[in-house]
Amino acid sequence: MHELSIATAIIEQADALARADGADAVSAVTVRVGELAGVVPDALSFAFEVARDGTALAAARLVVEQVSAQAYCGPCAEEFAVGMPPFFWCPRCDQPSNDLRSGRELAITGIESLRASA
Ligand SMILES: [Zn+2]
Repeated sequence: MHELSIATAIIEQADALARADGADAVSAVTVRVGELAGVVPDALSFAFEVARDGTALAAARLVVEQVSAQAYCGPCAEEFAVGMPPFFWCPRCDQPSNDLRSGRELAITGIESLRASA
């Protein structure tokens, strides 16, 4: 499963960031997932629950922020949702545009960690 390798990478990265910050455990991880990133949020959440066992993220929550795919049309300065499957056609001037501005994101945007001493 594609999402399992992504979930594992998220966990490894969050674990490393939390440890570098002196934390013992992570309580939540926020990831930003674009509509065109090729990731199914439900599958990612499921994979996360499987992959987090035995790590500093064993009790962590995965928060998925979905980003809609938006393209920009230069001639009329219109930003429009390309949808899924993507359709790169400006609804305002009826011209093609493949200037994608968002939708391919796949990144950790936040980590909440716990400290034993806190
Ligand atoms: Zn246009």
